[in-house]
Amino acid sequence: MAIKQFNIILDWSQMITSRVCHLAFQLEAAELPAFIPGQFITLLIPQDDKILRRSFSIATVQGKSQHLEIAAGHMENGVATNLLFNLQPGESVTASGPFGRLILRDEDVKRYILVATGTGVTPYRAMLPQIAERLQQNPHLEIVLMLGVRKRDELLYPEEFLQFAAEHERFTFQSFYSREQPTDQKEYEYAGHVQVGFTNLNLNAEHDIVYLCGNPDMIDHSFELLKEQGFDAHNVRREKYISSGH
Ligand SMILES: Cc1cc2nc3c(=O)[nH]c(=O)nc-3n(C[C@H](O)[C@H](O)[C@H](O)COP(=O)(O)OP(=O)(O)OC[C@H]3O[C@@H](n4cnc5c(N)ncnc54)[C@H](O)[C@@H]3O)c2cc1C
Repeated sequence: MAIKQFNIILDWSQMITSRVCHLAFQLEAAELPAFIPGQFITLLIPQDDKILRRSFSIATVQGKSQHLEIAAGHMENGVATNLLFNLQPGESVTASGPFGRLILRDEDVKRYILVATGTGVTPYRAMLPQIAERLQQNPHLEIVLMLGVRKRDELLYPEEFLQFAAEHERFTFQSFYSREQPTDQKEYEYAGHVQVGFTNLNLNAEHDIVYLCGNPDMIDHSFELLKEQGFDAHNVRREKYISSGH
């Protein structure tokens, strides 16, 4: 099947932390390509005589937004960074997709553990309406969302996740700070890398399914820890935010 390409036009963008820009695009054709929450798009960026590819998870919360939304982390001298952090409303970019298998499946599961670093949390943001449905359909399902960042002020969408947790009692949000231990620590906040949180979860490879998204080192280390608890590739789903670099 031919891969779909489409032009996306920036409607607005906003820095949501000191290092992350949230961008909302419209499509040149009237509607968003159908996507499953958790999928990503790939931007095709012309550079000299080449087209460079950089992927971004779709952050759009369907039902709440008509935009194609992404959150881009700042990478010094990065190709996508230079494009996205300077893009002006009305300017367009070519994209392809949607792609990706970091999606919720129809399966028998007691608990989903959704783990992210930084912008790796955007697929889970996009999943929120689906998560709400799953919680309603399955009265025993629990969902834990764990987000690791360096410091509290680098948290992405904390109000949205905390609000969602307040509205859904079997959904828990936890944040982890690798370079800060706030003195006024809240009950959902922890010090350390996000994977230290596994020790408090009473992991059970028979019942839990773990999603890992973001920093490749976090994903590799988490997978090692999970394997020690009996997990393997069938109940751990991974999406590494690797730069294609060319
Ligand atoms: C499936 C997928 C989904 C992704 N989703 C997102 C997303 O939602 N949001 C997002 O911000 N990013 C996401 N990424 C990463 C994104 O595609 C880019 O790789 C990233 O934004 C850097 O691109 P750049 O062109 O700005 O930097 P580049 O031009 O690729 O890199 C600039 C410099 O930084 C170095 N570098 C690049 N990445 C890293 C890194 N991780 N750690 C250390 N050094 C690095 C490079 O080696 C180079 O020297 C995703 C990646 C994949 C594969």
